[in-house]
Amino acid sequence: MSTVLAGNVDPYPDSALPVHWLVDTQGARAAIIVNPGCSEIESYAAQEISDYVEKITGLSLLILTAPDQDYYPIYVGQAAKSRLSSFDWASLDDEGFLLKNSGVYGIYIAGNEDLATLYGAYHFIEKHLGVRWFMPDEIGEVVPQSSTLKVGTFEEVEKPSFKVRWIESGDWALKQKMNVAVSVDYQTVGVNWWRTRSFHTHLLLIPPSVYYDDHPEWFALINGVRVKPEDGKSGGQLCVSNPQLIQEVANNIIDIFDEDPSLDIIHLSPMDGGGFCQCANCTALDEDLPEDEAWHGQYSNRLAVFHRQVADLVAQQYPDKVILTGAYAHYIRVPKDPNFTVASNIGVEVCHTYSCNNHRIGLPSCQRNRTMFTEELLHWSELTDHLFIYEYYNKGAWGNLPWWQIHVIRHDIPYFQSIGVEGFYTQRAGTRWPCCGLNHYIAAKLIWNSELDVDLLLEDFYEKFYGNASPAMKNYYERLDRAFREAHVCLSPFGLEWTTFAARHIFTPEVVSDLETAVTDAETIAQSESTLIQQRVALIRTRVELTKQFMNYLEVIRSPFDGVDLSDSNAVDTAYQQAVALGEPLSGDMLDYCALNDISPYVRNLTAHENINYIVKLNGETPNIIDYVWEAAGDGFSWHDEGNWNLGTYPDTQNTNATIAGDGYQTVVNAATGSISLNDLYVSNGLYAPCGGSLDIQTGGAVEFLNALSLGGSPAADNGTLSVNGGTLSGTEIKTYGTGHELNFNDGTVNLTGRIVMGAEGDANSVTQLNITGGNINATHINLGQSAGTHNMHMTGGTVNLTTNLNISNAPGNTAHVQFDGGTISMDNRLWINRTSEYHGSMDMRGNATLIIGEDWVDNINAWIGNGGLTAYGGNGTISASYDSGSDQTTVTVSSRCGYDIPGDLNGDCLLGKGDLAVLVNSWLSEDDYVDSQLFEDGWVDFYDFAALAETFVQ
Ligand SMILES: [Zn+2]
Ligand SMILES: [Zn+2]
Repeated sequence: MSTVLAGNVDPYPDSALPVHWLVDTQGARAAIIVNPGCSEIESYAAQEISDYVEKITGLSLLILTAPDQDYYPIYVGQAAKSRLSSFDWASLDDEGFLLKNSGVYGIYIAGNEDLATLYGAYHFIEKHLGVRWFMPDEIGEVVPQSSTLKVGTFEEVEKPSFKVRWIESGDWALKQKMNVAVSVDYQTVGVNWWRTRSFHTHLLLIPPSVYYDDHPEWFALINGVRVKPEDGKSGGQLCVSNPQLIQEVANNIIDIFDEDPSLDIIHLSPMDGGGFCQCANCTALDEDLPEDEAWHGQYSNRLAVFHRQVADLVAQQYPDKVILTGAYAHYIRVPKDPNFTVASNIGVEVCHTYSCNNHRIGLPSCQRNRTMFTEELLHWSELTDHLFIYEYYNKGAWGNLPWWQIHVIRHDIPYFQSIGVEGFYTQRAGTRWPCCGLNHYIAAKLIWNSELDVDLLLEDFYEKFYGNASPAMKNYYERLDRAFREAHVCLSPFGLEWTTFAARHIFTPEVVSDLETAVTDAETIAQSESTLIQQRVALIRTRVELTKQFMNYLEVIRSPFDGVDLSDSNAVDTAYQQAVALGEPLSGDMLDYCALNDISPYVRNLTAHENINYIVKLNGETPNIIDYVWEAAGDGFSWHDEGNWNLGTYPDTQNTNATIAGDGYQTVVNAATGSISLNDLYVSNGLYAPCGGSLDIQTGGAVEFLNALSLGGSPAADNGTLSVNGGTLSGTEIKTYGTGHELNFNDGTVNLTGRIVMGAEGDANSVTQLNITGGNINATHINLGQSAGTHNMHMTGGTVNLTTNLNISNAPGNTAHVQFDGGTISMDNRLWINRTSEYHGSMDMRGNATLIIGEDWVDNINAWIGNGGLTAYGGNGTISASYDSGSDQTTVTVSSRCGYDIPGDLNGDCLLGKGDLAVLVNSWLSEDDYVDSQLFEDGWVDFYDFAALAETFVQ
């Protein structure tokens, strides 16, 4: 199975120019246009846009039924569709929408269906107006504040990755473009799912209060008795082999469809818990299974047969209505019968539980997830066109501990999409949002568009939700992410297993201390932030505090069992009494803490001392901790699998070729000629790199490679990215092979005992780019352009120290250019700008860029100034090269033509001309504070004319 990696689509890219003002200093400049007599949903969409413009600026937009020349029109729904009649609206399917700002005629927001128009409105408000709904209610809403408001030019078509989307309910869910459990003005919209969308429906369809007296034989036979369950109650079941019952269930479903023909989904699954019928006819349907499969497949076949019979009867009346059935607990496995099929009107909702929720689906080393879930899921996916997923992104939070699932969500949701999953549901975060709600936010984003870049979504969340406290809160969440990933522990969130077994491996004293430090830092910064930000930090603080108390409590109630022989019942009993005595007051404290801080406690968790089995297990058993195995530790070994990353131990890859990205993905980083040793690695993007992926070293990270680190290599692969954004990258030499490779050194340290070679191999079409914005780079030399093609270096800051030289253009026919705008490059030896009829090397310097050459190099500098190899400000400035014999160094600096900076002289020619104006306006257009310019406020120039004019200059 190939590994699916999360996407790299930027959820909030910079908008394109030119911009259009919805509100400027004169007032509202745009109005919303709907058709007369438009639908309630369209009208609601229009109102939402106006309301959010008002929340941002204090001014609402008019909602009109015809355009008015004084206002830039925002057409919503049918008003947009009738004006864009050539657009293929049917191509949007039911729930896709078009967002378009033509730049001239107006903004268009419309979907094929009305609800999709509302989704489009929310997408517009989020993406183009900058509003976010990170969690439900006011505390979760982020609305930028500005007296003016502009949008760029865009044309976007959005279609959901999953047809049925259910994460949380109500207003927040609607804004996340969910289509289950949502309403507009109290009218349910979206998917019409029978009876509050229940999963366990057998006793809802056949209520015992209605049927038992006449038909006790329709109910489960338990120990010889036809038991009468309570209506809709767990633990009661039907006698599913009874032919009359089968007919009655089918009749009732048909009646339900008769009553509401618009129903989309009805669920047909047994009640939760046990109580399955023991009669001869029912048990005859059960399959003989090997012991390790028996529990999870015990009732699979009898239920499949029953559901099939019901569905066939319903299909006679309603062939197109889908009946959703569950695959869960005792019936998650596919029946063994090789002839088993699923009827076309049956959907299957597979529940991701009893397996592992800490490892991504399909991780080879997580046996529990693989055999208990992945294999069954894939099998079901082959059998039905209506595959649904039932997730538990909240479940571990029942223990009130932080429950991080994003490390699996970012993989699993794109994976679900790739195998054709139609519907997605996860149990709700609700009041446990501070423990697990970020899972739900990210999941909601991904089930709408599973190609979104999760790192960018998280960055956006940290930045906007926590204001200046964002770096500290980012530390909190990233530490949590690492704690889950590095624990290697399999997690089933069921019952007390996770909190009493596994949590100790995740919330180690060190992790808890780091989390607390991060939150304390955030609180300090938040003191000068808004009340809302303080409240958001406080929500996390209470959960960290409770985690601290709980981990201490577990340790305290476990301690009496130290050294106790668990087979000695007297000793166990004594230890148990002690545990209860020690645990009681701590449990009381935690319950008080919950009451004080508005936390709904999971009482079972906080009274663990009363349950001897769990306490004994605490001492006597360990959770399932998996050993990541370097499964392909030979040539061509795949490094893209996160199971092979971020671990405490790293493989010995001496004498092997190691490749980041594996089967089905392009080779990205390839230690083509030797070995890689990775120590204390913390890589973020590298884990989830898209095709043509990247290795990104972050603050705190350290990557060491013992031989060459190559982008591309053998077999040839292109478009690799190596980024150093902090930490240390050390090793021998870095080389690129092929095209599209990019090195980005932004912060941190790069220590090489060898060279950086851009274009070690390449052809005339090869392009490579070396960007340096900061940090320290130490190497022997840099060869920019060792082979054919175009090789560019752009440096704006930081320092580069070379023990020998910088060599620009090192192969005939290629082009190599250094744009050197800031920072310092020093070389003990020489600078070579090879510039002849065959070699096309050049360097242009600007600003405070400084070159230091450890030798008298003035003559060479003058020669390159003479042949155009070395320029300042693109030829407009002055270069000065001076040799100091004391230090034996030549220093090269530049100044603009007139020797000083002229404000507004953006191209360095010491003239204020059209070129400067174009650059300036372009920069205003991409910044928010352009309005500060008196130029426009005074109204003596029309902004749109001006922007259009400036654009022609830019071009
Ligand atoms: Zn039975
Ligand atoms: Zn696992």
